[in-house]
Amino acid sequence: MADLILFRKINAMNQNTPKIPLHDPRAHLRINKLQACPNCFRPKNNCICEKVISFPNRVKIIILQHPQEQYKLLNSARLAHLALKNSKIRVGLSWPNLKAVAGNDQIPSNWAILYLNSSKSSKPCQIIDRNKKEILDCSFIKGIIALDGSWKQAKSLWWRNPWFLRLNRISLNPDHPSLRGQTRSEALSTVEAIAMALDCIGEKKEISESLRAQYAQLVVSTEMTP
Ligand SMILES: [Zn+2]
Repeated sequence: MADLILFRKINAMNQNTPKIPLHDPRAHLRINKLQACPNCFRPKNNCICEKVISFPNRVKIIILQHPQEQYKLLNSARLAHLALKNSKIRVGLSWPNLKAVAGNDQIPSNWAILYLNSSKSSKPCQIIDRNKKEILDCSFIKGIIALDGSWKQAKSLWWRNPWFLRLNRISLNPDHPSLRGQTRSEALSTVEAIAMALDCIGEKKEISESLRAQYAQLVVSTEMTP
């Protein structure tokens, strides 16, 4: 029954895409580095470089990617980066501070990080400052940090980068399941989480809608064997 509801929700979101199983067996598959496109990191026979539709997003997105996540078959961080002109990816485990990833002119109070929230909130998206006070007007936010990795890897990034605690937090509580089956019901892929955060801070709706549609296309066009 749960799967049926999931399929209905997914199909409502993407009328033209086939059904995708709840726990996608491709989630842990990796691409052979030698057979990957050096730009989009997709298998060369599934390169998306010429297909990606990109947008000039207002708030900068920086994706901090765990090194083990780079060549995952269904990794969505590279798609998010290619689709968002004002974005970058840094691969690694730790950085000394925000300036090291965002530039010397950036200050933590103007940045937010997507937060791993396991407690259910009544709101689909909530922004709080470092003192846990809710932020209602987020027009001062200049950039968002998104972590790309499994839950375990993302937790590890939190421990290794104590400067994350100085940033505002965007807590996501999605009311729809991830297009790709996730091990936790509230988890989203990186591009889905970024799309939700962009909605939350008031970016144009067409950007988040396109990110979701492009991710759906990537998932359905990816063959089982990399
Ligand atoms: Zn490519």
